[in-house]
Amino acid sequence: MDESARQALRALPAVEELLNHAAAASLLAAYPRTQVVEAVRAALEGARREILKDSTAGSALGDPGTLLAAAASLLADWQTPGLRPLLNLTGVVIHTNLGRSPLAEQAVDEVVKVARSYSNLEYDLGLGARGHRETHLEALLTRLTGAEAAFAVNNNAAAVLLLLMALAPGREVLVSRGQLVEIGGSFRLPDIMRAGGVRLVEVGTTNRTRIGDYESAITPDTAMILRVHTSNYRIMGFTEEADLGEMVELGRRRGVIVADDLGSGALNELDAYRGEPTVAASLRAGADVVCFSGDKLLGGPQAGILVGSKAVIGRLRKHPVARALRLDKMTLAALEATLRIYLDPERARREIPVLRSLSRTPADTAPLAAALLAAIDRRAPGGFITEVEETSARAGGGSMPLTEVPSHAVRIRFPEAPAASASATPTIVAFENALRHAPIPLIARVSQDSLHLDVLALDERDIEVVAESVAWAFGQVQSA
Ligand SMILES: *Cc1c(COP(=O)(O)O)cnc(C)c1O
Repeated sequence: MDESARQALRALPAVEELLNHAAAASLLAAYPRTQVVEAVRAALEGARREILKDSTAGSALGDPGTLLAAAASLLADWQTPGLRPLLNLTGVVIHTNLGRSPLAEQAVDEVVKVARSYSNLEYDLGLGARGHRETHLEALLTRLTGAEAAFAVNNNAAAVLLLLMALAPGREVLVSRGQLVEIGGSFRLPDIMRAGGVRLVEVGTTNRTRIGDYESAITPDTAMILRVHTSNYRIMGFTEEADLGEMVELGRRRGVIVADDLGSGALNELDAYRGEPTVAASLRAGADVVCFSGDKLLGGPQAGILVGSKAVIGRLRKHPVARALRLDKMTLAALEATLRIYLDPERARREIPVLRSLSRTPADTAPLAAALLAAIDRRAPGGFITEVEETSARAGGGSMPLTEVPSHAVRIRFPEAPAASASATPTIVAFENALRHAPIPLIARVSQDSLHLDVLALDERDIEVVAESVAWAFGQVQSA
């Protein structure tokens, strides 16, 4: 450390001195003293680090006004929720990093009600005695899917884990080599199998697995055939997978349970799903149990839903680990409300945000993009070039990985020299960064010289909010 750094460190005011400074009075009035002290200490620590990095910056960093401003900004930060809403203009409707499915209004209302109040979560109002938390849910799920029984846990990964632990402990589970999926980096089927204490038996080959491959792999120790939906990839070309009906026939004949992990799990045959396998179809084919996510195509809260025979669901419910994976009342409220909307499929398409988005056609997205463009031009006139363009968006969330959903975007460009390399221009990089830091952050798609605001997942009520974030970011880029 050189002498100027040593001097700058010594010149930093003491904590007490800053607390007694006139500028600290408003902080002490607004926040508890212990928090202000903590913020002041953190601000001083920050200044010390800066001085050690660059000793010439010393004297300015020691200014009490600057230090207290830093403390004030920390105090404000600590009050700001870390998890907060943002605008998804990526063109990926069910985006795991962005919280997957927004809830329907009705679901939000029900969550707020049970969160605020006591409820009959585990209380049977008819009997005046203890009840079960899934009673309400089970009735809806069986009605909607045709299953005998239903159960729900924290997410679909938990549903698969529970299936394995309850139905095949210490025994063999057959899975096609073409279906050994990894979902989002942390859900890898072979790892879940190990964690669940079952022995994975790989069947067939990556591209072709026939029913005979399953049959010859069955031993007295085989408890389950597990089919897994290849949610985020497709194997194409010279391929074959046994169909569920054949697996069920084999399972019945050899006394082996057939479970189907559908991943996204479209409930029924809505056109918005564009050929995704449905829960109802798997049950009709005779699967003993089917599991799927609550917050993918279903458009509800994070949950793992299990539907199937009374016998199998009963074994899941009784397993000790079920308690550890159970749903809380807010999720139950959201899930029940979401499912209730499905009783009327037309209403589901209108009110469940992900279904509404995926039901849109270019005839819907074109005027939406035009309205967004007009709102942006009104607020941030001049300085950049806006136009509406056709895009291909995606469902996301492990559904329809290869299906492009035709949509529209507002494309924003700056009049600047074309990029020297394949990466985005400095202005686009700065603009995208500013959008992420807007009071309501906006996530968009970036290309070399443009930003693309895809409207497929945009709620029309948010048009002005998007325009506001764009105008704010534009201001940041201009003043830089
Ligand atoms: C998404 C998915 C999972 C994991 O579901 P979560 O609800 O994210 O836990 C499991 N299996 C398949 C096939 C999936 O697509």
